[in-house]
Amino acid sequence: MADKKARNSKPIFIAAVIVTVVIIYLFLPNDDIDFMSDGVLRVCLDAGHGGDDPGATDQGGVRLEKDDCLRLALAVEEHLKNDFPDVDVVLTRGGDEYPSLEDRCDTANDCKSDLFVSIHRNSSEGNAFGVEIWVESTKPKIDSRLAGDILDGLKSVGVSKDRGVKYGTASSPTSDYYVNKHTDMPSCLIEMGFITSDADNELLDKNLDAYAKAISDAVGNTLTK
Ligand SMILES: [Zn+2]
Repeated sequence: MADKKARNSKPIFIAAVIVTVVIIYLFLPNDDIDFMSDGVLRVCLDAGHGGDDPGATDQGGVRLEKDDCLRLALAVEEHLKNDFPDVDVVLTRGGDEYPSLEDRCDTANDCKSDLFVSIHRNSSEGNAFGVEIWVESTKPKIDSRLAGDILDGLKSVGVSKDRGVKYGTASSPTSDYYVNKHTDMPSCLIEMGFITSDADNELLDKNLDAYAKAISDAVGNTLTK
């Protein structure tokens, strides 16, 4: 009797496992976003700093982060317009002005941008160099994938050091950069090499267009594929 009971309960157990797995699968959050849900593919590019806020500077105080950020953002916009004509590009600033961090997030949120990419340069009192990309501390999947794709593209152009995709902020893994935290869409913040590193500055000047194309490709492919 006991044997028969055990045999009968086995298929029931297997069926229960299958049903449970299916239910769990159905209720898992779907991490693929339908970027076309509002009929427009859009990215918001944020050139860091600007106006009275120069950002970081090189050792001589001549080269300003705000200028490098804007140059790169405008070059990315150019590539997106040429290579991904279906993608609408919105800039948080198109010239040497300073929108507040809140304004930058409002720009992205108000136009219902699908992605947000902030462009900065790093600085160090030591001799640090290389590229890193920051994503929100909660490690959202699309943000992480976008950051990884951008970094892969930049690496294939050539960087002095791959410092990786990082989460949170440089001071804390549980805090977030304002623009990552307060934008409603997947976002990342690129630290495009160290402005305090001559080697990184040379690479940026030499590869500006190729870096811009790499960022444009990662953004465009994320939105259109
Ligand atoms: Zn910055």
